[in-house]
Amino acid sequence: MTLTAAAQTTSLDLGPARALSCRECGHETPLAAEFACPECFGPLEVAYDFPAVTRESIQAGPQSIWRYRDLLPVPSDVQSHPNTEPGMTRLIKADRLAAALGVRSLWVKDDTGNPTHSFKDRVVAVALAAARELGFTVLCCPSTGNLANAVAAAAARAGWDSVVLIPSSLEKAKVLTTAVYGGTLLAVDGNYDDVNRLATELAAEHEEWAFVNVNVRPYYAEGSKTLGYEVAEQLGWRLPEQIVVPIASGSQLTKVDKGFTEFGKLGLVDATPYKVFGAQATGCSPVAKAFEDGHDVVQPVRPDTIARSLAIGNPADGPYVLDAVRRTGGAIGHVSDDEVRDGIQLLARTEGVFAETAGGVTVATAKKLIEAGKIDPDAETVLLITGDGLKTLDAVADRVGPTATVASSSKAVKEALAGRG
Ligand SMILES: *Cc1c(COP(=O)(O)O)cnc(C)c1O
Ligand SMILES: [Zn+2]
Repeated sequence: MTLTAAAQTTSLDLGPARALSCRECGHETPLAAEFACPECFGPLEVAYDFPAVTRESIQAGPQSIWRYRDLLPVPSDVQSHPNTEPGMTRLIKADRLAAALGVRSLWVKDDTGNPTHSFKDRVVAVALAAARELGFTVLCCPSTGNLANAVAAAAARAGWDSVVLIPSSLEKAKVLTTAVYGGTLLAVDGNYDDVNRLATELAAEHEEWAFVNVNVRPYYAEGSKTLGYEVAEQLGWRLPEQIVVPIASGSQLTKVDKGFTEFGKLGLVDATPYKVFGAQATGCSPVAKAFEDGHDVVQPVRPDTIARSLAIGNPADGPYVLDAVRRTGGAIGHVSDDEVRDGIQLLARTEGVFAETAGGVTVATAKKLIEAGKIDPDAETVLLITGDGLKTLDAVADRVGPTATVASSSKAVKEALAGRG
C-alpha cells in the first residue's frame, strides 16, 4: 500500500475513475497507488463515473485502446504523453478453424498484433498512464515473460527506467526480447510465485517504483477491458454468445466480462447473454480444478507446463474467475502440453496465425469444451489469442521443419514431392 507524494494530492486526473472500491466488502477509498482494502485487505478495483459515451465518440478516437479512454482510469490528455499504442488488433472470421472444430461461427481475436506481440501491451499502457499521474518514475513488474517485454518497451518509449523481475528459467526468446529495450532485468532463482513475492517486498521499499501488476494493479487490470470492448465493437456493436479466455492470474478473464457488461450498461450494445469460458494448461490448472470440484477457493499448485506465460500457481483473481464463469454459464477446461502444441499447429494451419503456447491452450481447450458439449457448436464463439508464436519457438521446434532438403533441380523437387506421397 505505497502512497507517493503525488498520490496524496487531490488534483489527480484519472479520467472517469472516481475511487477505488473493495471487491470483497465494497468499501471505497480515494484514488491512490493502493491495491488492498484498508478495511479487509480484499483487492481494490477502480470505480467510475462514466461520461456520456456513444459509438460515434468512440469511433472518432484513434486506432488504439485510447479510443476507449473515457472508460479507462487514465488522464484525459493520455495521448499527449509518449506511450505504446496497443489495441485495435484484428478480429478474424475463422471459417477454416470453425470447420476443423465442428462449430458454425468462430472468430479469432489476434492480439499478437500489439507492439510487443501480446495482450500485455494493453494493461501496461494503462498502468504507465496512471503511474505517471500517481507520481511514479520507474516502471516495474514481476513477469512470466510477456509482461516483461511490454514493461521494458513502454518504459523505453516513455524515457523511464524499468526494473523487470523474471524467473531465471524463462524462455530465451522472452529474456532477449525484454533485455533489448534496456532497463534493469533481474533473473531470479525461483518460480513466478517466488518472483511475485519479491516484487511485493520491493514495492513497499521503493516509493518511486510502480510495479504495474502489484501496487498499481487496480489501474493495470482495467486495460484488459479493452479486449472485451474491441471484440464487441468489431462484431458490429454486439456481444458474442461465447468467448474463450486463457487464465494466468485470471485478471484478463474477469475484465473481458466487465467490458461486456459495461458496454451493455452504457447502451453501446444490447445486453444479450454471453458465456465466458476459461482455458488452462493441465500442468498449471488450479482454477480449472476448483471449477470441476465446485469449490469457491483456488488451491495453489506448483506449475509444470510449456505454457509459461500462464504458469501462475497461485492466481490472484481465481475466485473472481469462478464467479464470472459460473454466473454466465460457461466452463473452464485444461489441456496437456501435447494438446497445446496441437492447438498451436491447428490454428497456424487453418488460419495462418502463429500463436504462442497460451494461444495453443485456448484453441485446444476450446476443442475439448466443444467435444464435451460445454461450448455450443451452433452459437457464435470468439477465441482470444493473446501472444505470438515467435516467443515460444521451442514448443513446436521438434514438430515442424522443411518438407525435404533438395538439390536445386526440378527433378529433385519432383522426386521429393513423389516421395511425400
Ligand atoms: C499474461 C497472459 C495471459 C493471462 O493473463 P491474466 O490476466 O494474468 O490471466 C494470457 N495470455 C498471455 C499470452 C499472457 O501473457
Ligand atoms: Zn474490503
